[in-house]
Amino acid sequence: MARARTVHRCQECGAEAPRWAGRCDACGAWNTMVEEVVAPPAGGRRAGRAPAPVAPTVALGAVSAAASPRWETGLREFDFVLGGGIVPGSLVLVGGEPGIGKSTLLLQVAARLSAAGRGTLYVSGEESALQVRLRADRLAEASDAAGVALLTETSLEAIVATAEAALSSGRRVEALVVDSIQTVHTELLEGAPGNVGQVRECAARLMRLAKDAGIAVFVIGHVTKGGGIAGPKTLEHIVDTVLYFEGEGSLEHRVLRATKNRFGSVDEIGVFRMLPSGLVPVENPSALFLGDREAVASGSAVTALMEGTRPVLVEVQALAARAGFSTPQRVAAGIDGRRLALLLAVLDKRGGISCAQLDVFCNVVGGMRVQEPAADLAVVAALASSVADRPLPPRAVFLGEVGLGGEVRPVSQVERRLAEAAKLGMTQAFLAERGVPRRTPPGLAVVPVASLGDVLRRTLGREAA
Ligand SMILES: [Zn+2]
Repeated sequence: MARARTVHRCQECGAEAPRWAGRCDACGAWNTMVEEVVAPPAGGRRAGRAPAPVAPTVALGAVSAAASPRWETGLREFDFVLGGGIVPGSLVLVGGEPGIGKSTLLLQVAARLSAAGRGTLYVSGEESALQVRLRADRLAEASDAAGVALLTETSLEAIVATAEAALSSGRRVEALVVDSIQTVHTELLEGAPGNVGQVRECAARLMRLAKDAGIAVFVIGHVTKGGGIAGPKTLEHIVDTVLYFEGEGSLEHRVLRATKNRFGSVDEIGVFRMLPSGLVPVENPSALFLGDREAVASGSAVTALMEGTRPVLVEVQALAARAGFSTPQRVAAGIDGRRLALLLAVLDKRGGISCAQLDVFCNVVGGMRVQEPAADLAVVAALASSVADRPLPPRAVFLGEVGLGGEVRPVSQVERRLAEAAKLGMTQAFLAERGVPRRTPPGLAVVPVASLGDVLRRTLGREAA
């Protein structure tokens, strides 16, 4: 196949150059030149300037307003994160660090689709057919996986041609998994597989395949911790849905998070346990993250986060210990370091508890990440509890944003968070005075607080300075 005419375009300023360069001539940025196809090769589909095909139009009023059908895999958390199942004709990117379980998850999905009678093609550019077979044999879905069509291939043209040939010969291909986008390459571009131009062009062509043939396409993309590698980040605007698969390597649970979804809400999470037989949906994520609340040490506080539409209870742990002779350390895991610094300053100035001479460690248990200020109150309560070395009430939940003046502000969707807390056996809820809902779940006593000082008094019996 002849190569297409390509240019290298600067991702910063848009300047074009005929050849790749490390530095853009126009704006001087480094490593921003990415190869793009400008015209298909002579002899290609549009050779000889044939007139473009005329497409039929449809009156807007005649478009069926019924919800598009969705395919449920029965892997409950996976269906949930997608917004209620797989949408035919969609392109879904599943990103995550190598080894996190992306291939396992999508092999399970492929097996389940195949068992439901949907033709499924699994393309592996990473592993041999035998390796994929051995992986499938370990799954709970092993017998379902037998019907999945397997293709070990890295040429995009061959993958698309195989899918199209199967379709035109009347065989059903309804789902396609590409593992991974970094191993696939198109002949139209010169660059090596995995570079930004290749990854982007391949994804765009798979998107066209998905739309034209109504196939659900899943693309696996590897992300490294630094995030500097060409890949998922550059694809996010091309695909319909972006799912990130996360987890600490040492923990057995994994979180699947939708960061973009044209067919559902974003920020939804699904929680799985990684077992030898594959990924198993976790029925009650709060119970997993919360652990045992019977014997809690000082420095532990519970809060309820909203993950998409779903409340999840998590434990925030803080440890303040006397620093050595060096500068006191601030170590935050699962919480933004700057937010921690801010809360330490508020605790000092408004709560009269200084950590200036202490090393401070703050951690969200279970590898969850706290991204909303609603967890502030739990963080300061945990810090104060650690400094005082007195445990907080074990069955209390803390919900509130803490302002610079030490004031406690209401959080959104407080009813849903309280309902989850009550469900998990919490008996007390510390809430912003202004944000106490009219109705609270039975068994959960609300403690209204206006300021950080109030919280310290009510929990640790401590007078604010
Ligand atoms: Zn430039």
